[in-house]
Amino acid sequence: GFLVFFLLIAALTAYMWRDTFDPETVRGARVLVTGASSGIGEQMAYHYAKFGAQIVITARREDSLKKVVEKCLKLGAKKAMYVTGDMSNHADPERVFKYAVEKLGGLDFLVLNHIGNTDVGIWNRDADHVRSLMQVNFVSYLQMTAAALPVLETSGGSIIVVSSMASKLPSPYVAPYTSTKFAVNGFYGSLQGELAVKKSKVSVTIMILGLIDTESAMNKIKGFTTMPASPATEAALNIIKAGATRQKEAYYPGFHYFICLINSIFPFMKDILLSGLSLEN
Ligand code: NDP
Repeated sequence: GFLVFFLLIAALTAYMWRDTFDPETVRGARVLVTGASSGIGEQMAYHYAKFGAQIVITARREDSLKKVVEKCLKLGAKKAMYVTGDMSNHADPERVFKYAVEKLGGLDFLVLNHIGNTDVGIWNRDADHVRSLMQVNFVSYLQMTAAALPVLETSGGSIIVVSSMASKLPSPYVAPYTSTKFAVNGFYGSLQGELAVKKSKVSVTIMILGLIDTESAMNKIKGFTTMPASPATEAALNIIKAGATRQKEAYYPGFHYFICLINSIFPFMKDILLSGLSLEN
């Protein structure tokens, strides 16, 4: 009985996840990508560029942003610009957003991707660090969303929120990060419902990522896990597709959906599901 149920879920999921992405939906689209000076955000900028989008990217490091913009223009971006901003600064999320809307004459995709720096390890009982990480990883997302909703309502646009398996399956050594991602999922899940009630034209996509091979992630997890990491460029493309096809929640790599599913049905299996995370040092 369980096997039949599981196969049914798998078939339904395969149907729901069939690739319906049409590159035309992002060609010329006006996009703001946060945290795009490195990692998955940088890779998203390159994909959007190849699809001929108009992009504004943001982060703190100006040198890196400049290089990403140059590459985006070479790859075929219709427009590519950057604006520096520090999301731990309360005024910056709105300032960055306004810059993008002004330069692009509106917005179709707001891609919330940046995260602040945090150590991997046993929680050091520093509550102040969690408070400041909440500003960067969560509150700044809301500040940009507050500014974006009226603009996206006009364009029938989308908010894409980059989240993590940490938001579904709390694991050891990443308690501050995990709490910010739970907040993100909680808020945007609720917002999806409110937009539906209002019959809004705005879609919200919550992207759940497994371990991805960005430089920062690989440096941090060294000695904590031997879990294989998936390529950032594939992760980036999957995020863009999920947003463009207006999926409510999407997973990359896809099998993580089944890990979440098993965990929801059998919560006592959490420790087995997390057994890939072992403290090695
Ligand atoms: P990176 O560390 O590579 O990139 C983070 C980006 O955020 C950088 O561009 C950085 O640029 C920017 N940033 C950091 N602090 C600030 C700040 N205070 N203000 C503005 N921008 C800031 O991260 P990843 O690419 O690995 O992760 C991207 C997203 O994917 C995140 O939301 C993460 O949670 C999610 N994810 C990643 C996984 C992974 O294994 N890599 C797994 C699951 C989810 P700068 O320093 O120039 O400001």
